Amino acid sequence: MVLNRGEDGDTVPSDRVIIVGAGPTGLALAAELALAGVPCRVLERRPARTADSRAICLHARSMEMLALRGIADRFLDTGLPVRSFPVGPRGAVIGFDRLDSDFPYQLDLPQSEIERLLEERAIELGAEIVRSATVTGVDQNDDEALVTLADGTVERAAYVVGCDGLRSTVRESAGIPFPGAPNPGSVALADVFIDDLPMTDAHGENTDAGLFLVFPFRDGSCRVVLYDYSRAEVPVSEPVSLAEVRESIIRITGRDLRPRDLYWSSRYRSESRQAPSYRAGRILLAGDAAHTHSPAGAQGLNTGFQDAFNLGWKLAAAVRGGAPDWLLDSYHRERHPVGSEVLRLSGRQFRLNTARTTPRRLLRWAAYHVALPLPPVQTRLARAYSGVAIEYAPHDAEGHPLEGRRLPPGRLRSRDGAATPLYELFRDGNFVLFARRPVVAPMGLPAQVRVVDYAEAARPDWPAAVLVRPDGYVAWAGDATEPDPVRHAVHHWLGTN
Ligand SMILES: Cc1cc2nc3c(=O)[nH]c(=O)nc-3n(C[C@H](O)[C@H](O)[C@H](O)COP(=O)(O)OP(=O)(O)OC[C@H]3O[C@@H](n4cnc5c(N)ncnc54)[C@H](O)[C@@H]3O)c2cc1C
Repeated sequence: MVLNRGEDGDTVPSDRVIIVGAGPTGLALAAELALAGVPCRVLERRPARTADSRAICLHARSMEMLALRGIADRFLDTGLPVRSFPVGPRGAVIGFDRLDSDFPYQLDLPQSEIERLLEERAIELGAEIVRSATVTGVDQNDDEALVTLADGTVERAAYVVGCDGLRSTVRESAGIPFPGAPNPGSVALADVFIDDLPMTDAHGENTDAGLFLVFPFRDGSCRVVLYDYSRAEVPVSEPVSLAEVRESIIRITGRDLRPRDLYWSSRYRSESRQAPSYRAGRILLAGDAAHTHSPAGAQGLNTGFQDAFNLGWKLAAAVRGGAPDWLLDSYHRERHPVGSEVLRLSGRQFRLNTARTTPRRLLRWAAYHVALPLPPVQTRLARAYSGVAIEYAPHDAEGHPLEGRRLPPGRLRSRDGAATPLYELFRDGNFVLFARRPVVAPMGLPAQVRVVDYAEAARPDWPAAVLVRPDGYVAWAGDATEPDPVRHAVHHWLGTN
């Protein structure tokens, strides 16, 4: 349901959540909350969805999260799987082929398409999206959060999540700082057609004149990213023309690739900043409102998207009541270090790509031509860029080594011999308890836990019982043959829910 302001009046306090911002983070969070049955209202200042393209891909971990909810195919039908990511000089790529994932590639598709599909999903599940609704301030007391809109109305909710991007009003209202600085120089982006390059794989060139990257789309067009040293100080307000794109490509590569039919372009200067806290009481931050960095590595949208999957089920548990006190705080504890690592990763690549002094260019040459091709470096970077390397500190330092790790893809053989893909068991957004023996009667567990007892493990190293969170990370694992440790683990994570 998409509403425009005025169709619905000043509204109800309650068990609902207000999300400010219908970008990819806000829409993904709205879908997760709606799936969990939590009433949620997305307030978006724009009157309509935008064709603004910005981000261009979903990495493997984001695709896995979509697969957990059974909607990866919708995105696969629109995007183009590309097996490598260009990081700089010609041929310097990170290959995703060896990833232990059902998605050993990045899926290239414009941000506008990602938003369209996420909005469809959120609405299908019953989230309310209100457009032309500009939030001007957020306040809170012990019982509720209060959101003020530009027309003077005040809306109430149990929690408010600021998914309102880099210049977040929610963050400012909550008094959460956003330390950091702009990155040097501006980047020109353009969506065009280039007939002289194959539109099946990534392409990059980093020369003494600058950086040129190409990300192909399914319709045969591509996103061109240009960091032309001679134009790095052009003000971001100056439009990017087809002539400029052509000239910059010639300057950087020495070849005239004759780009044509420019249909979207933008010039922007990125910033590297991170909020020191993602939560202040009933106010939380996610996506660009919590962290922003250079576009190197195409991490921004993916990181916000995964914030939403981490936060959704925790917030739903908090709203339902009975959740352990620490659970909502674990959102900051888990996602802040991931955000910091993304800032480091994209910062390092950005500095290498924009290096102009001789020593730093030599370093770049060594990094991309000597270190990058080494198989262990390829594996490490593919895991880092794709997001599959992300793991969370185990809740119990003495816990099983699987705890905090991502559930890898695989199949489970049930007692009747049927093989089920593991990820299919998470479509309803619940916890899944995998039990090799019927260690615990399902009746004794909360409704949010789906018990799957199986004959043959997906992985030989699995212990007797593995409890996996709705976002696909192992909450607890153990060799319990008695029900008590299992019940204890479930109670620890779900409280009295
Ligand atoms: C030019 C450019 C290129 C980029 N390229 C890439 C890339 O290649 N790969 C990648 O992963 N990332 C890229 N990014 C980053 C990516 O676009 C962002 O990380 C992503 O959009 C963040 O999503 P979000 O939902 O957190 O915030 P946003 O997409 O910024 O969405 C915030 C939403 O909140 C709304 N809003 C703001 N204030 C208010 C208010 N007061 N009241 C109501 N609504 C409000 C806005 O209208 C907007 O719809 C790029 C960014 C830019 C600018």
